[in-house]
Amino acid sequence: MSDGHHRDGESPGGEVVYGLRMQGDERFFHIGSGSERRAHDLNHRSPAVRSFIETRGGDARVEVVILERHRCPARARLREMELVGRHQPETNTFGRSSIPAGILHGRPKRSKVRCSCGAPDCYGAEVDARSR
Ligand SMILES: [Zn+2]
Repeated sequence: MSDGHHRDGESPGGEVVYGLRMQGDERFFHIGSGSERRAHDLNHRSPAVRSFIETRGGDARVEVVILERHRCPARARLREMELVGRHQPETNTFGRSSIPAGILHGRPKRSKVRCSCGAPDCYGAEVDARSR
């Protein structure tokens, strides 16, 4: 799907921004956004994330912290990038120094068009209103 309304296998309108850290650490080693189920899924992760976890005690030591909840997936994606910029988690690649243009334009993950999800907090609608 690329219409910005929903993505296969994930609940529409229930987006979270989450941080991953090892128990006892204050710093997040990864920040992401997506469904809450995705937040807790440690298997389908980048090699950088897997290697970080495996060299520090494994999945059982990972703490998943839900940082924010949004209805709009583009809003969640934007906030993910803002928090990556602030916290600089070491396994994130995008968003460390600047926010990719597509995200600033209101595109959710895997979408080529600006979000029009209809949620009250829709970031796509906010960008639309700004450029009018
Ligand atoms: Zn939206």
